[in-house]
Amino acid sequence: MSLPTPEFILLLENVNKSFEGFCAIRDLTFYMDVGELRVVIGPNGAGKSTMLDLITGRTRPDSGKIEFGKDTDLTRLSEFEINRLGVGRKFQTPSVYSDHTVFENIWLSLAGPRSVWSTLFSRLTSEQRDRIHGVLKIVGLGARAGRQAGHLSHGEKQWLEIGMLLAQDPSLLLVDEPAAGMSDEETARTGELLLSLAGKHSIIVIEHDMTFVRQIARKVTVLHQGHVLCEGTVDQVQSDERVIESYLGRKKRT
Ligand code: ADP
Ligand code: MG
Repeated sequence: MSLPTPEFILLLENVNKSFEGFCAIRDLTFYMDVGELRVVIGPNGAGKSTMLDLITGRTRPDSGKIEFGKDTDLTRLSEFEINRLGVGRKFQTPSVYSDHTVFENIWLSLAGPRSVWSTLFSRLTSEQRDRIHGVLKIVGLGARAGRQAGHLSHGEKQWLEIGMLLAQDPSLLLVDEPAAGMSDEETARTGELLLSLAGKHSIIVIEHDMTFVRQIARKVTVLHQGHVLCEGTVDQVQSDERVIESYLGRKKRT
């Protein structure tokens, strides 16, 4: 098992979590460097979403260490505090303000936990405006700024939500199955977007689509029954006997 480097941003060591006797996360150890783009794969029920729940404070571990950078013990903080520290999470289904424009959605996210109306009736500074347009440009929605979010395509909604996360400038971004339900072209664009964000942010992407994984992955972690089965490049994990047996092999047969 690898050791954390001096530049790690996230550390999970010997983490366990059971739900009513069912062990969803079992002795999980996972290290990630600052600026890394890591892809986590694994069969359904492997514990991928639970791992994100543990990092974000949505779920508490039964035992083990979860640290953000060198000094911050995440197991002692609330979901809100962890978010404020710079951990942003994108869930599988997009949740945007459908009745508001794309621009307003980013604005609302930038403004943080204020009411929709107090934000939209406040004065927008030119600095905020630049920042919103900057984020829209990054996620490729510059030309959609005035469009009602509810009228965007599924892929565009996903990018908007990534933009809403970026508005808060998280140092760690957690993205759960961003390509689900996307067309091939949207999937490829999402891959380019995530690649462009790596380095500036540290990113964990959970994904099933192996074409997409191949496009974006440098290092892949394979989870199986709540435990890290192996880590390495896409080629390394795809040719690993344990992975073929437990995951890829099973998937091929179905
Ligand atoms: P994945 O995202 O890899 O598909 P999950 O992390 O969602 O897997 O789930 C791992 C296992 O933990 C599953 O068997 C799931 O049913 C169980 N699980 C996850 N969250 C809960 C919960 N809040 N209560 C009970 N069981 C849960
Ligand atoms: Mg999941």
